[in-house]
Amino acid sequence: MKLGLVIDLDTCVGCHACATACKQWNTSGTIGPLSDENPYGEDPIGSWLNRIRSYEVDDTPQSKTVHMPMSCMHCDNADCVTVCPTGASYKREEDGIVLIDQDKCMGCNLCAWACPYGARELDQDQGVMKKCTLCVDRIYDDSLPESERQPACVITCPTSSRAFGDFDDPNSNVSKLVVERNGKPLMPELGYEPTNQYLPPREKADVPTMDINAESLSSKVKRWANQVIAR
Ligand code: SF4
Ligand code: SF4
Ligand code: SF4
Repeated sequence: MKLGLVIDLDTCVGCHACATACKQWNTSGTIGPLSDENPYGEDPIGSWLNRIRSYEVDDTPQSKTVHMPMSCMHCDNADCVTVCPTGASYKREEDGIVLIDQDKCMGCNLCAWACPYGARELDQDQGVMKKCTLCVDRIYDDSLPESERQPACVITCPTSSRAFGDFDDPNSNVSKLVVERNGKPLMPELGYEPTNQYLPPREKADVPTMDINAESLSSKVKRWANQVIAR
């Protein structure tokens, strides 16, 4: 089994609901509190296991803002695991999830330097490394209804831009999405073999524009308003 996420860059609106749900779930979950420093100040920082970066893509005829949620890609060839001197960082054979044993981690930061996706966060308060667990503490929780045995970010996304499933199964929802929409991993040239896949933005359809003269519209509205008042 190879579990991971598919993220649709066409429909993601950059609302940060997934990041907030991730923080809320994990704060009360297995990896414990995700610290915040100066949360209401001018320069708030803290531990976030899912961050949304937004870019203006202007090399197309019509420019577009692309929102790019990024969390651990659960890479098959993850240097964050091999550099760890304590064995705290590991990849599970049974489902491919990359995890950190919080009891073995000494907070040396080597794995964060080895991760090209900025997916690891050193919790300054606790001195240990944290990262996305694919919500391992809920996806296998038999006490939850089956529909809720998914990562918190996937359940929360208001635009259904996130999907979770098994990439080893060609009939899974994620495998089908990747085939249908030409999904791609991020920066494959680095050789980390990320499991998570991104669906590229669709081509924009030509939308007919109305030739509305703002001033004439405004005078029309004014005339209509005067008529209504006069009645
Ligand atoms: S995204 Fe980074 S932290 Fe996650 S498995 Fe890949 S290299 Fe490791
Ligand atoms: S910070 Fe922790 S998990 Fe990362 S390399 Fe150091 S000991 Fe390993
Ligand atoms: S919740 Fe969904 S739409 Fe909002 S930022 Fe996350 S992936 Fe994008």
